[in-house]
Amino acid sequence: MPVFLQKIAIDSQLIVSEIITLSKSIIQIRFQLDKKAILAVEALGLGPHLKLIFPEPGQQSIVFPDLNEAGKIIWPEGEKLAIRTYSLRAYDAASHTLTIEFAIHAEGIGSKWAQYAKPGDVIGALGIGAKCEYQQQYLVLVGDITAKPAISYILEHLPADAKGHAFIEVPDHSDMITIRKPQGVTLSWHIQQHPSLFPEMLIKSLNLPDEGNILIWGGMEGSLAQHVRHCLVDQFNVNKSDIQLLNYWRIGFAEGEFRRREG
Ligand SMILES: Cc1cc2nc3c(=O)[nH]c(=O)nc-3n(C[C@H](O)[C@H](O)[C@H](O)COP(=O)(O)OP(=O)(O)OC[C@H]3O[C@@H](n4cnc5c(N)ncnc54)[C@H](O)[C@@H]3O)c2cc1C
Repeated sequence: MPVFLQKIAIDSQLIVSEIITLSKSIIQIRFQLDKKAILAVEALGLGPHLKLIFPEPGQQSIVFPDLNEAGKIIWPEGEKLAIRTYSLRAYDAASHTLTIEFAIHAEGIGSKWAQYAKPGDVIGALGIGAKCEYQQQYLVLVGDITAKPAISYILEHLPADAKGHAFIEVPDHSDMITIRKPQGVTLSWHIQQHPSLFPEMLIKSLNLPDEGNILIWGGMEGSLAQHVRHCLVDQFNVNKSDIQLLNYWRIGFAEGEFRRREG
């Protein structure tokens, strides 16, 4: 059973300091945090993520919503802020910088903003949260291009003796960017097909250990996540409680318009 972590609230302005087009589908942006606050990132929290607040055109300063005690956003009366969820790709406490990788797609506030971002632009950040913690389980990571930043972060921060298998599906060969990882974790990339090859790839390549705990963590499009959950339960007999697959986005729905069921 995974251990669940508490959310930690920060609210900070993020100032764009560097923009790198990493590949056909990924723009990496480094930000300077406006406060001297240190982000409390749990070293082994899986997929630490932030809520980014994007300004309306012409808006001079970022409006921050309130958070309740559970860290849940209280929307300002009659107003819906442009908030999207993104993973921490890197964080450097000494220089107060953090890095986020934006997957580029046709429509969307976050995707569009990243494509036109320039040094000095400002957005807001709320967070930071991570759903559950790595505790020496055999770790299976499964994600599409939107979870590639989180999976990269996890692989880079796992202890050297970690064991597992990561599966990442991307739109283009250029998105298969080398990731530092423990030797005992296999990394398998494949090019996104319609329908997705995830179930097929898992059945072909995933060898779960006979003994010991396992944890399956990932993020992807919602209906695909459901499909992958079914595959893991039906084909591999995995307990539902050992699967933490997040619906990172949903075809045809902007963030905030669908429920992020997990299982
Ligand atoms: C915990 C968590 C961490 C995440 N981390 C990252 C991250 O590090 N990097 C990242 O890029 N994304 C990440 N995502 C996913 C991201 O929040 C969504 O893709 C979000 O919808 C993007 O916002 P948007 O404004 O670009 O599009 P929205 O306004 O939300 O959606 C507009 C339209 O675009 C479609 N759409 C949304 N995302 C995609 C996509 N990837 N491909 C094709 N169509 C899409 C929607 O179906 C909708 O029709 C994360 C999500 C979660 C829950």
